[in-house]
Amino acid sequence: MTAQLPATAASGNEPWMAQQMARLAGRRGHAWLLAGPSGLGQYELALGLASAWLCDHAGPQGACGTCPSCHAISVRTHADLRVLMPETALLALGWPLGEKAQQEIDARDRKPSREIRVEALRETIEFCQRSSARGQGKVVLVYPAERMNTVSANALLKTLEEPAGDVRFLLASEAAHLLAPTVRSRCQLHTMDWPGPEMALAWLRQQGLSDHDASVLLRASGGRPQEAMRYAREGRGAALWQGLPAAVSRGDLAAFKDWTSPQLLDALYKLSHDMVLRACGAPPRFFLPGELPAPASLRALSDWSRELTRAMRSAEHPFQIGLMQEALLGQARQALSRRDASPGSATGPAAHAARPAAPVS
Ligand SMILES: [Zn+2]
Repeated sequence: MTAQLPATAASGNEPWMAQQMARLAGRRGHAWLLAGPSGLGQYELALGLASAWLCDHAGPQGACGTCPSCHAISVRTHADLRVLMPETALLALGWPLGEKAQQEIDARDRKPSREIRVEALRETIEFCQRSSARGQGKVVLVYPAERMNTVSANALLKTLEEPAGDVRFLLASEAAHLLAPTVRSRCQLHTMDWPGPEMALAWLRQQGLSDHDASVLLRASGGRPQEAMRYAREGRGAALWQGLPAAVSRGDLAAFKDWTSPQLLDALYKLSHDMVLRACGAPPRFFLPGELPAPASLRALSDWSRELTRAMRSAEHPFQIGLMQEALLGQARQALSRRDASPGSATGPAAHAARPAAPVS
């Protein structure tokens, strides 16, 4: 899902992150693309790798964490690390904005940008042309790389083709299919590891979640532990998740009053996904069967899924959040209450299989 900003729960010390660091820290290559769905820690892995490449005493497990270079990265002031991100992501992750950008935002001339701005890209190209301040090379970290517009991507491409001296690139992406193929093809690809359920649950328990909360939220997040932790931190706990299908069926707007539109869209999308699976006779993925409302018409559910996909594309527009939520819930309620018309045709798997073609997408 590209509508949301990154999860920031990963510290880089999770067992599956440590494995990937150990595999990548010593590898060569001037441009890497770390790709996978959100919540797998690509930003954290990219920052860990950048730290290792710039560290004075890097070991096989990555950066030492104590040298002046590591310290400079921890306080966000390393002269040889350039972080290229949308301004909203810089702010969310604690990186300083450029001087001019900061002034414009302070003066309320404009809002922080959700795209990677061309101005920031120009400064990055200048950075590439300067010589390294500490003599360990330079690193450009781009995240989320898919937020570069075409102009930015093409400008970066030129630098990627002729990397100036000792600069290395780390592109971290949560939707690598949105990157220009010409950018993708110039990078070595690392697909983020997906931790197995045992490892993920053990880690969630270490973070302080109960067995029950860990398993509900890991399911809610589609198996992505950092995402599950984000749910917990944002107050979207296990009980809320398990009661969500019923609250949506009731059209209970109050249950979602503190949710942002992208959060609500994400949850509704997962609900519609599971309802479609159930209508096709397959086990649900994000909810338990007992948490879901009665089977609804597959046609209505498919239409609803399509509407949600459309809404997700514009979910970051901040206007009229209340109205949007009301509309989303109304739509959800309607889809969930639609039953197939002919008597006895219900919507169970057997009944469904007996019908001719039923469009799923
Ligand atoms: Zn170090």
